Amino acid sequence: MSKSEKIRAPRGMPDILPNEVPLVRRIEEAARRLFRLYGYEEIRTPLFEETRLFVRGIGEDTDIVQKEMYTFAEEGTPDAEGPPKSTGITLRPEATAPVVRSVVEHNLLKKKNFWKLYYVGPMFRKERPQAGRLRQFYQIGGEAIGSYEPAVDAEAILLATRFFREVGLDGIVVKLNSLGCPSCRGEYRKALRAALEPKRKELCRDCQARFERNVFRILDCKQEPCKAVAMDAPAMREFLDRECRGHLEAVESMLKDSGLDFINDDHLVRGFDYYTRTLFEISHGSLGARDAVCGGGRYDNLVEELGGPAVGCVGFAVGVVPTVLALQKAGVARAAPEPLKLYAAAVNDDVRSECFRIVEDLREAGISADLDHERRSLKAQMRSANRLGAQYVLVIGPDELAQGRLTLKEMATGREERLSIGDVIKSLKRE
Ligand SMILES: [Zn+2]
Ligand SMILES: [Zn+2]
Repeated sequence: MSKSEKIRAPRGMPDILPNEVPLVRRIEEAARRLFRLYGYEEIRTPLFEETRLFVRGIGEDTDIVQKEMYTFAEEGTPDAEGPPKSTGITLRPEATAPVVRSVVEHNLLKKKNFWKLYYVGPMFRKERPQAGRLRQFYQIGGEAIGSYEPAVDAEAILLATRFFREVGLDGIVVKLNSLGCPSCRGEYRKALRAALEPKRKELCRDCQARFERNVFRILDCKQEPCKAVAMDAPAMREFLDRECRGHLEAVESMLKDSGLDFINDDHLVRGFDYYTRTLFEISHGSLGARDAVCGGGRYDNLVEELGGPAVGCVGFAVGVVPTVLALQKAGVARAAPEPLKLYAAAVNDDVRSECFRIVEDLREAGISADLDHERRSLKAQMRSANRLGAQYVLVIGPDELAQGRLTLKEMATGREERLSIGDVIKSLKRE
């Protein structure tokens, strides 16, 4: 590598720069507040998991497991291209399977039967870069583990919807479907294959393969010919057995009672095999073809599949990046960073160490304060105070120090006061 060749962030793994962080934080803080409001507790799982967790949890035949995971051999060297092995470790492509793994591993269901857990953090998928999708992306998600009650589904959907209201994103669309249980889904799979078979040749190459491995995913393909073929496909709803239909109707009626507008999307599917019954997605029209900002659903077999008891669960994840994009497109003001309270300006170099000490005293008192570290002129220091958006400037010079009276200037009004450092602290702490 030549000396001048700059090192860039890996493709699809952008930095979140200081001017972008406040909006991301606002989103995360709104989510944390809401999760607390709904009785959720935070859980943190590692970024890496054993590969077989995802192979078994998400499903061997899903696109994610087939081609999108960052899998490493146990010695830490990247695996060769191709389908992942069931040994080795993988950067988490999602967090539902890890959360369930953790619940099972630590026997949490022995402590209480029902848990509501949430997480915030990065996920990793080897997406095709030309599709403009990120390879490291952030998700905020909740998992309610231990109940088959339709109220849990309804609560999760209402919480997710409330989240978007909380961050100020109007115009979201909530789509609802049911995938049934494994028994009624088998019937649907057969019917779907039979309906798509005559038009199989018209499908895109990915969907040709999906026809055998995962025929439901054809309903989700964004390619025009596939969308046309899928349009006339039968709906899962027609194949639901009595219990699954009853569950769906109970969820629907609770959502209606809560005043939530949603649409039934008979062709809604998601790229995970673990979903059963309720499936939902929240989208925003400003985002184009990939318009989902949140997705989730019920997964009643995953805990048992991963070695725990048979219990019902509902989970969902909000995509932070699409949420930020939708907020920006909707013109929702970007969140401003918290302004600096005070900038201490040194009149000359002789008072710099005194200035340093005073700034530390202010910080000790809980007042955000900063000073010049570049030995610049008073004028240049004033410019910095402006640029940093400091509410006050404290001018420190030899005369001021001798008199024990410093000049505190309020930037917005230009008003000046001569105060002792003790009074500066007292007056700023009152604000
Ligand atoms: Zn069923
Ligand atoms: Zn397709």
